[in-house]
Amino acid sequence: MHKGLIVQKFGGSSVANAERIQSVATRVVSYRKKGYDLVVVVSALGDTTDELIELAGKITTDPSEREMDMLLSTGEQISVALLAMAIHKLGFEAISFTGAQVGIITDSTHTRARIIKINADKIKEELKKGKIVIVAGFQGININQDITTLGRGGSDLTAVALAKELAAKECEIYTDVEGIYTTDPRIEPKAKKIKAVTYDEMLEMASLGAQVMQARSIEVAKKFDVPIHVRSSFNGKSGTMIVKEVKRMEDVVVSGVTINKNESKITVCDVPDRPGIAAKIFNHLAEKGVNVDMIVQNVSHTRQTDISFTVGKADAKKALRLTKKISGNTGSGQVLLDDDIARVSIVGVGMKSHTGVAATMFDAMAENKINIEMISTSDISISCIIKKKFAETAVKALHEKFGLGK
Ligand code: ADP
Ligand code: ASP
Ligand code: MG
Repeated sequence: MHKGLIVQKFGGSSVANAERIQSVATRVVSYRKKGYDLVVVVSALGDTTDELIELAGKITTDPSEREMDMLLSTGEQISVALLAMAIHKLGFEAISFTGAQVGIITDSTHTRARIIKINADKIKEELKKGKIVIVAGFQGININQDITTLGRGGSDLTAVALAKELAAKECEIYTDVEGIYTTDPRIEPKAKKIKAVTYDEMLEMASLGAQVMQARSIEVAKKFDVPIHVRSSFNGKSGTMIVKEVKRMEDVVVSGVTINKNESKITVCDVPDRPGIAAKIFNHLAEKGVNVDMIVQNVSHTRQTDISFTVGKADAKKALRLTKKISGNTGSGQVLLDDDIARVSIVGVGMKSHTGVAATMFDAMAENKINIEMISTSDISISCIIKKKFAETAVKALHEKFGLGK
């Protein structure tokens, strides 16, 4: 019986060793037996990608991004071959491919390339022959035939993009937790599994630090309405659906709390209070490809002001150098870098129609004597920058304050 196509993605922890690869094979085969066509996307084994990055770091502090992609893409190539073998062992037909082999064409932005198109003919051909198709996540190829990678966590994107291209019934993301929780269950054991979240909420949570899904994969899922089911690779329980709209019986103001320790804060002190200086600084950073996130400028009575902003940790040193260079010409004071920060955020579509949410968040911080250094808000989120050592306490306090453990 032909039941249609499912894309299944297995993350690094789900294929960390031979035993787990065998259990993934067993699960995949069980779906095959039920009559599904299957495209399976896999990540690199365990922490392979981190280990490869570390290895490169022992050779040079400034590796070519093209070579970095060449190196990192090898991790996923190991997984697909091993999974194909494990499926063969169970007596089923499977064939593994790299991203390039299945026509995942990207732009040339090495280490964070964007998918331009997918030529899925090869996959369709193999599916027609009755094979389970296994695709290396996180990678593609540009028009010059150079291997590219899709940014950390990019196997999620491979899976969602293939699900869209092949018009799959569903995209299943198998991971080491049972779904999307109200906050990272490794930090707050009282975190609760959420039955369903909207693309908007998940996108916000992912962008604000919930690493369980790569943010860009949710952008694509939202654009093309690809239903995602995040679930555990260790048991058969159903997990969390990520969909366009969720009907909730009760008013949920805050759906989740996130934490991000991958940002740094830069402060330009004593900036002369006249038009054009912020433009100068941020244009320069943008030209050099530095993504600036939160920006705060104090109101000035003295005709001088401080400007603080956050950037990704990986860009911090570059941003500091560029900011020093440009602010030197503006008559500003010193430029400071603070690595010791964390961003805690609350996310929920219910915020749109409720007042006092920010005040409740600040209360939770105050009750725990946590100083707030910066604040930013969006339609469906509020973030605070605090000292890193308070991050876990803040997450737990917010989780409790908004009643998420109930
Ligand atoms: P994979 O290797 O399967 O891609 P990841 O490590 O990328 O897995 O993502 C899973 C991890 O995300 C979990 O182990 C959990 O610690 C973390 N996480 C952070 N926030 C959340 C959340 N809100 N819900 C579930 N998991 C979360
Ligand atoms: N292996 C890659 C990473 O660790 C891609 C992924 O896991 O999704 O980022
Ligand atoms: Mg991941």
